[in-house]
Amino acid sequence: MFAISARRLGYRVHTYSPDRDSPTGQIADVEIDAPYEDLDRVRSFASAVDVITFEFENVPAPTAEAASERAIVRPAGDVLHITQHRLREKTFLRSGGFPVTRFERIASSDDLTRVVPNFGPAILKTAGFGYDGKGQYRVQSLADAQSAWDSMGRQEAVLEAVVDFTAELSVIGARGEDGSCVFYEPSANAHSNGILDISTAPGGFDPRVSSRAQEITRGLLEALNVVGVLCVEFFLTRSGDLLVNELAPRPHNSGHLTIDACVTSQFEQQLRAVCGLPLGAVEMLRPAAMANLLGDIWSNGSPRWSAALSESEIKLHLYGKTEPRPGRKMGHLTATAATAVTAEQMVREARSALSPSSSKSR
Ligand code: AMP
Repeated sequence: MFAISARRLGYRVHTYSPDRDSPTGQIADVEIDAPYEDLDRVRSFASAVDVITFEFENVPAPTAEAASERAIVRPAGDVLHITQHRLREKTFLRSGGFPVTRFERIASSDDLTRVVPNFGPAILKTAGFGYDGKGQYRVQSLADAQSAWDSMGRQEAVLEAVVDFTAELSVIGARGEDGSCVFYEPSANAHSNGILDISTAPGGFDPRVSSRAQEITRGLLEALNVVGVLCVEFFLTRSGDLLVNELAPRPHNSGHLTIDACVTSQFEQQLRAVCGLPLGAVEMLRPAAMANLLGDIWSNGSPRWSAALSESEIKLHLYGKTEPRPGRKMGHLTATAATAVTAEQMVREARSALSPSSSKSR
């Protein structure tokens, strides 16, 4: 989706990935299929381009560093280094005075024995390489925590208090080369099995909550010195406070609806920021809702695309991934409508129409 925006503005796109025929590779001018650890290939890739950005933050730090010897890298490698590791990210948030869930570092069985008994309901999460709820275990007791930690291979982890939230929301912000910032309308996000399911914008939040979420996002863009897009995911607690859950220094799944609903999509915004262009307007043209399409909907054969598209305001986005594995994000649907509530209803109905056998259960 980033590459499509780049091509639309006349840029050439080169992509580097350990996978062949990747979604970006299908539309890029040059597709390099090599491991992130092959730093000579990374350097030669970087020599052929002017600016480099990332599709996800789990690119190893040495890869970003090697690339930065030959081209501008945005966001900078230290932003990736912080945001690809929960413990570093949460420590950064807490020490910067940003509101964050109570947490403790777990690096040994002794840490569990010391921390868990007085902690209350908690989630144990791997410190590194976690997303979409992967590597997470709910724990109530020391015994739970010990078996969860065993099953994650006793690697460094974060024990985090379970938040009693009334909603999850996210803000997509962008910061340009000159330090100017823009913020999209916060979207309300519903998750299923730890994976984003539906995003709706406007999310129906009190305007004070929305502007506070945008101000926190501004503080983070500045504290991290990001040039590019940053998504901040929040919990809204029962008492009306915002807690930062996670940062993504890139276009985010909850911002996909900006493609069809906003003057400038999050992908064009990322392009503008990393290429040093002025940022684009973020106004919503219409309320919208997005529903993810996971590989699961292929389980009874090819989804019925024309049934979903029979409502003319539904937009289908498929990413060109060939293997529809359960839980894998294969594409999404967006609906725009006069109200966000109607858009959400439309997008849910359209998704149900894709696989008739599941329509009754949704
Ligand atoms: P994560 O990958 O950490 O963003 O977690 C995925 C989803 O799990 C979140 O969007 C929440 O729905 C849920 N979750 C994660 N951490 C917590 C928490 N501390 N309290 C309550 N729910 C959580």
